[in-house]
Amino acid sequence: MWIREPEPEVWLTCAEPGIGLVPFSPFTGLAGPMRGSGGACRGCRDDWMPAAMPGKLDENDRRFLRLAVELSRSYADDPRRWPFASVLVADGEILARGFNQVAELHDPAAHAEIMALRAAGRALGRHVFEGSVLYSSGEPCPMCLAACYWASVPRIVFAATSHDLAECGFQDLAIYGQLRLPLDQRAIQEDAAGEEIRQGAVIAVRDWARRY
Ligand SMILES: [Zn+2]
Repeated sequence: MWIREPEPEVWLTCAEPGIGLVPFSPFTGLAGPMRGSGGACRGCRDDWMPAAMPGKLDENDRRFLRLAVELSRSYADDPRRWPFASVLVADGEILARGFNQVAELHDPAAHAEIMALRAAGRALGRHVFEGSVLYSSGEPCPMCLAACYWASVPRIVFAATSHDLAECGFQDLAIYGQLRLPLDQRAIQEDAAGEEIRQGAVIAVRDWARRY
């Protein structure tokens, strides 16, 4: 039986001008104030290192995480794949595997974590996976992190960090940074509807909530 650890898996403080304090760990960045060693991230100085994760993994964690990393190399067989993979596990059993199939499926949401959750949903006929652990070869992006919230996945274990991925051009870290900005400073413009249209949508949601 899995017991959630109260402490975050990884945290750091980034001193890079323009980046500021980065919501590095899904569980720290979105759930509470930054905590860390006060050192700089890998992108800033060479003395960066994960603060907590290695000591928190047991042998099973390392086994499944190594499997996710091994699967992340599937691009060698299919160049349409991107170098990420995930494994969803519960009670020591693999529920599903996922690969990044964004280019393969022309689906911007087909990240490895999402694909693992979809596969588990199809296999088990449900959309929540309480008591599971998602092992991912890379730190989940905000979309995949949110999907884990929706799916009630209580723990994520990852290998490469958002900073590692940023060094190779992936945008996960930049998107986490966007979420920290005020709405009017984000790259995506969000415009709310006027009152009449808003009310129409709200009525539908309230009607659904009353029924179900
Ligand atoms: Zn993702």
